[in-house]
Amino acid sequence: MHYSGFDVYEKSICTVQIDGSEAEIFMAKDSPPDGADFLVIGTTIPGFSGERLADGKIKAPLTNDNANALRKLCPFTAPGRVLCKDRSFGLGDRLGIATPGHIKLFEQYDVYPVFAQQSIRELNLTNRKYEDVLDAATFAVFREGFRKSWGADGDHLKTPEDIAYALGLGFTMITLDCSEHIKSDVTKENAPALPEKYRDRYLEKQFDIGEGINISFTEAELQVIAAMYGGVIDFVTSMYNRFLKGSPASGEAEYSADFEVSIDETSTPTTPSQHYFIARELVEAGVSFATIAPRFCGEFQKGIDYVGDIAQFEKEIKIHAAIARHFRYKLSIHSGSDKFNVFPYISRECRGAFHIKTAGTNWLEAMRVVAQTDPALYREIHRYALAAFDEARQYYHVSTDVSNIPDVDALGDAELPSLFDNNDSRQLIHITYGLILNKKNPDGSCAFKDRLFGIWRQNEDVYALALEKHIGKHLELLGISKQL
Ligand code: ZN
Repeated sequence: MHYSGFDVYEKSICTVQIDGSEAEIFMAKDSPPDGADFLVIGTTIPGFSGERLADGKIKAPLTNDNANALRKLCPFTAPGRVLCKDRSFGLGDRLGIATPGHIKLFEQYDVYPVFAQQSIRELNLTNRKYEDVLDAATFAVFREGFRKSWGADGDHLKTPEDIAYALGLGFTMITLDCSEHIKSDVTKENAPALPEKYRDRYLEKQFDIGEGINISFTEAELQVIAAMYGGVIDFVTSMYNRFLKGSPASGEAEYSADFEVSIDETSTPTTPSQHYFIARELVEAGVSFATIAPRFCGEFQKGIDYVGDIAQFEKEIKIHAAIARHFRYKLSIHSGSDKFNVFPYISRECRGAFHIKTAGTNWLEAMRVVAQTDPALYREIHRYALAAFDEARQYYHVSTDVSNIPDVDALGDAELPSLFDNNDSRQLIHITYGLILNKKNPDGSCAFKDRLFGIWRQNEDVYALALEKHIGKHLELLGISKQL
């Protein structure tokens, strides 16, 4: 369908009521070479700014102001609280281009997407603001006519300033990163005396969490756990009380958002008794949370399958899942990209109620598209990534062995996409994303970024299909059914 010579996104066409009469709003694509998307706003619809067209309608660019107006006019384009649903899935689209592909998939499955999900570190590495992250999701949802609820996650936030920033924009989920409050170096030898309240609450007791599982604590063990996680309880409680306690309707809280407690970024796995202690203490403190992200045994490295003892994982996730069920929240699985070997256990033990987070795998699929469609550019970036690898690896825990990566110059063009089936090559491209996007030419222009976005723009359908296939494999192995 065309409008004034522009291609219209048919799924975006939306009729709204303005002062008792109908008005139309939709998205269209500008003619080349610009080719940018824009909104077409019916003459009676207030709140948007742009250029007035011959028929009186407004051609509104995809700006933050227009995104705000759109969220008000069409509430389905604003995020909602989906973490409290049985199944939710975070999609960390760092480039702001993946949501149309994700939508094709999430329309089909019985799971709620969190299209906007980014940490502050990711914002810095991609030169984005939370406004950009949210607006990219809003415009994609509008363009594709997605009517299910979807979430926006201020991921791995550590400070009240960052929490206020995300909530102020309407993010519907806060993932509180507690890593700086975990005292990992506490031992039996250096732990301070056990506070009396913990002694009464936990010692000489068996906690029956159902399913034949009992949790109990020895004094020495409890002393270490209390010292290690006491600061986490205080931090979570204070952030919760400050931002989320009560509801905006009661006037008690300014914001309404789901709350996730993340303790995964720590050096040692969270034991079942540590997990029980944290959950119990948060409940005692009156904190209402939807999810906890423990650090599981084995390794959840970026962009590759589970590394570790699967039988051990199966045994531990059973207890973690039972603890979560007992206190009525869900487990959240961070670095959930590509953990195909353990998805069936997660699905079974969580009984189909979980939150999974992915991010970098969506970037890897975007780079696979580059390898498929512009081999010369891919080779250039691959060589740069190898040169930049040592700098990037300081920030990640990965076991990448670059000597296992085939020589890119010895591969034919058609073989390049297969690099994304090689774990070492995946991690190479995964952890260098910030450096690749930020690499500058001597004259200050971007070495790769603009060319990359050009390729992705030209190959939107290829990327959407790649995401549908790759993220679809996640949903299938997690046992998520298709909707009727
Ligand atoms: Zn995490």
